[in-house]
Amino acid sequence: MTRSPEPEGAEPENGAAPVLEVTDLAVRYGRIQALHGISLTVAPGELVTLLGANGAGKSTTMRALSGLVHPARGRIFFEGRDITGMAAHDRVKAGIVQVPEGRRVFPGMTVQENLDMGCHGRKFDDKDSYRSTLDYVFELFPRLAERRKQMGGTMSGGEQQMLAIGRALMARPKLLLLDEPSMGLAPMVIQQIFSIIAKIHEEGTTILLVEQNAQQALSRSDRGYVLETGNVTISGEGRALLKDPAIRAAYLGVA
Ligand code: ATP
Repeated sequence: MTRSPEPEGAEPENGAAPVLEVTDLAVRYGRIQALHGISLTVAPGELVTLLGANGAGKSTTMRALSGLVHPARGRIFFEGRDITGMAAHDRVKAGIVQVPEGRRVFPGMTVQENLDMGCHGRKFDDKDSYRSTLDYVFELFPRLAERRKQMGGTMSGGEQQMLAIGRALMARPKLLLLDEPSMGLAPMVIQQIFSIIAKIHEEGTTILLVEQNAQQALSRSDRGYVLETGNVTISGEGRALLKDPAIRAAYLGVA
């Protein structure tokens, strides 16, 4: 396979062929250039955080990976295959599943119906496979099992975030994209959500996480990238980034 241009992203720590490889990705909204040519990789089983302030281009990156916006330049490879021109619904089928910013559960559907929407169109090998996926989600989120008949729109913000993540997991993602899961939630709930993300990661799911909460995200991440006005400015191991003076000043309020 020839790839042009050569990827500039940091090599994954574990040396495995990347699940995701983004090279020189540029995205424009009319005259606004949201991404200026970013490169990044995510290796199998990694939890990687994309950190950045408001307007840095984090959501745009997620939208480009999901196929919701089309890049002006650059390439996206998933499991070695060039998916830059692939339609959004085919990316979901291929295993790239996003939990969008703001959660967006179906308010007029029950918890169970919301979860079933997550695996809509997905072929299960047999009945057990649907059952085992649902059991896995209910084990991660016992609250959802208790509330399976409750309408999505009547759940609290934290419960809706759990439902949105649970719905994504019903699709058995190979790459889970989480866009600011802590946004608008109380500190106690944020803690819970990050613990669950860490658990999903420990159980083997590859995750790309977009966050502004540097402490929570980087302390649990294998690696991280810092995005500033559409450019990757710093990348490295998660805990090492937490010690970086520039990151501490910009994202942790520590001078
Ligand atoms: P936030 O945390 O505030 O969501 P972000 O890092 O996710 O920020 P993006 O939403 O990706 O940033 O925005 C990157 C840039 O692109 C910003 O300058 C933003 O104003 C612009 N932008 C985003 N969406 C659009 C759009 N639909 N039309 C025009 N400009 C947009």
